[in-house]
Amino acid sequence: MKLFCSIEDVFRSDVPGVKEVAEVDLQGRRTGTLCLFHPDVRSFWTGLATDLCKSYDIDGILFFNERNGPLLNALGASHSQSIASSRVTCFCEHHQKAAREHGIHFDRAREGYAKLDRFVQASLKDQRPGDGYFAEFWRLLVEHPEIIAWDRLFDIGKHQVLAEVNGAVKDVHKGLQVGFHIEHVNSFNPIFRATRRYDDLATKADFLKVVVYNNCGGERYQRFINNVGSTVFRDVPKELLLQFNSKLLNYGDEARLDELPTTGLSPDYVARETRRALAGVEGKCIILPGIDIGIPTGGNSRKASPDDTYAATRAALEAGAHGLILSRKYSEMRLANLEAAGRAVREFAK
Ligand SMILES: [Zn+2]
Repeated sequence: MKLFCSIEDVFRSDVPGVKEVAEVDLQGRRTGTLCLFHPDVRSFWTGLATDLCKSYDIDGILFFNERNGPLLNALGASHSQSIASSRVTCFCEHHQKAAREHGIHFDRAREGYAKLDRFVQASLKDQRPGDGYFAEFWRLLVEHPEIIAWDRLFDIGKHQVLAEVNGAVKDVHKGLQVGFHIEHVNSFNPIFRATRRYDDLATKADFLKVVVYNNCGGERYQRFINNVGSTVFRDVPKELLLQFNSKLLNYGDEARLDELPTTGLSPDYVARETRRALAGVEGKCIILPGIDIGIPTGGNSRKASPDDTYAATRAALEAGAHGLILSRKYSEMRLANLEAAGRAVREFAK
């Protein structure tokens, strides 16, 4: 394939008309992200994909939409730096309509997220509930199942956009390839993982770019553990939490929590996540792991050597990947690492 075009949805607030299609948070404020249920936003994405496919001699589209649902955002249960429980979305009129169509009680969902916000803020202040952090969190879900339903509604909106973009591209030319970027959090967070069925995603795409960035993965995984370890799992020592979570994810031997940023995740992680994706799609689409080449990390975090990049690339290929996407962008890549990835591909092909 010659070219991929990436489409993101974060817009400057001074783009004309963008405020009207932005998401609305728990407090009723407009945010900087686009509402997945706003008809104009959906038309924008399909229109943009159509225009790209008609105007340029490209082989396909990689649709990139690195967005998490309200539950993850509330808990900071990703590698995100922030725990944004007071700013979860989207409570606009289009979401209200979508909620009705899916039998979700809008006001109960908003009330559930307001309670979740109070739980998160109290946890961050070290105010331990009498029954413990985890029981209190689970009780919120039991008493407000709308919290899960609302998160699910986000997934429905996101996957509907994926299906629409796929349809728009195929309408231009059946032979154009469509792929989706599968977020890094899919490999760190078992709760998020449960919401992503590879076999379902495979029905909407020709290929999936599965993020297996192992170098920056170290500091990102540490951040995830620190975030969930400061709210829902606050009663568990973080090193233990890391070990427990890694078992849930079927990770092998990775570094200790304090060493993760300087060690990164191993080539074995790359291989395991590649194999999981291959098994998950059941042959319905191809798997192109996203290989970390120079993705920026913190000042004291690991910078991958060319040998590291070679090992990660080789691990994905040996695990059975159909191809690779060297990620994320050329401007981040050191040529020696790029050369090492190329060498791994050529040597594997021999
Ligand atoms: Zn909305």
